Amino acid sequence: MVLLFALISVALMAWQHWGMNLVMPIASENGNPGWVEDDRSENGNSIVQYQQNDAYHMQCEIRTAITYPFCNLFTALNPEDRGVDLTQYTTLHLDLSHQSSTRDSLRVYLNHFFAPEDQIWFPYKSNQQVINPREGRHSYTLKLDEFYVPPWWVYASDLPPKQTTPQLTNVRHLVLSTGDSSIPREVSLILHHAELRGKRISANALYRGLIWAWMLMALLYFSYRAIRYSREARTKHAETEQLRSLNRLLDLKSKRFEDLATHDPLTGLYNRAGLRPHLQEAVADYKRKQQPFSILMIDLDHFKPINDTYGHEEGDRILAAFARMVSDRCRQSDIPARWGGEEFVVVCKNSTAEAAGVLAEDLCRATREARLGEGYVVTCSIGVAQARGPDVGALFRSADEALYRAKNGGRDQVMTSS
Ligand code: GH3
Ligand code: MG
Ligand code: MG
Repeated sequence: MVLLFALISVALMAWQHWGMNLVMPIASENGNPGWVEDDRSENGNSIVQYQQNDAYHMQCEIRTAITYPFCNLFTALNPEDRGVDLTQYTTLHLDLSHQSSTRDSLRVYLNHFFAPEDQIWFPYKSNQQVINPREGRHSYTLKLDEFYVPPWWVYASDLPPKQTTPQLTNVRHLVLSTGDSSIPREVSLILHHAELRGKRISANALYRGLIWAWMLMALLYFSYRAIRYSREARTKHAETEQLRSLNRLLDLKSKRFEDLATHDPLTGLYNRAGLRPHLQEAVADYKRKQQPFSILMIDLDHFKPINDTYGHEEGDRILAAFARMVSDRCRQSDIPARWGGEEFVVVCKNSTAEAAGVLAEDLCRATREARLGEGYVVTCSIGVAQARGPDVGALFRSADEALYRAKNGGRDQVMTSS
């Protein structure tokens, strides 16, 4: 895209340089009228003669009756003698034959005519250049930006400097005038051809246009990039947010799976898997610090008949209510768990069998008094055992054995393993 634009720029510059030519012939073949003037209108007595066939031919005899004698050869820039804007033209080319009896210069004028609204005392402003014509037929090239307003016009107009600069926007005549020498002489001047050359688009205008175009393109390009980046950033942000919420969901899910794996859904207590790390911790403390710990093995009494009599749902309700009660009465360091069916285990960390026995008695009595069943009494039997070594299996067997004794002893009671 940039390359294409650069190529177009270079092509335009090349075209401007070698092409885009503008030519305005000012010659007899165009039918442009020509005429002459001498200084007799200004009290001089120079004599000019004129003939026009395929060229404009002025024959002049300068006589020195006045200070600045002259002969002028006028050529209109178009057949209608209309004013022309020469802004797009850069050079004036003259093909002329000159001959003078003494050395003479040649004044070249492009007369700018004022519009009626800025009319001043003079109908036109002279823009001038002076050349030294060689004898015979020669070509001359004058740059338009080297024309200047002659001193006599500046003096005569009495205008401020701002208004005495060259003006070429409404030019009607090309005037070739004899030089300002006051020596009597005979001058012959033939204008074979004249033309103005320029460019449809000036180099300056083209470069200014190209600079604007490049700046506009850069602006568009950077705006586009900025919009694209902000859009991408917004998409990225949305994606990050999506990932974050997905992560949160996954966290929740994994936590739920973890809960499911380690908790009993009916009572909310730990299941065997959930209790295992706590048991391991108690064993570790026991091994490291000789810290005692005990367990309670709890079994609801005559639970089958409850199920059979009041239904499984009532059995479930009793199990949940019993679990809640056990949790409420346990100390911070006691870990209750559902061991299976209507059997529960409480791991009492940092507790001797005696201390655990106190909790067991409390639970046993509270169960009896809690009136968990509607119209019947629910009781439980509890076996208590203290760890005598790191063997958890042995500990459970001891508690089981104590529980068995409690059952056999008539249920609704606590037995401690000796
Ligand atoms: P014991 O005093 O000797 O312990 O008598 P028991 O009837 O409590 O003992 P048993 O082992 O014969 O019966 C246990 C019953 O517990 C059998 C089973 O229907 C019931 N049970 C086990 N798990 C659940 C459960 O999740 N929900 C309900 N409603 N009942 C259960
Ligand atoms: Mg049982
Ligand atoms: Mg039972």
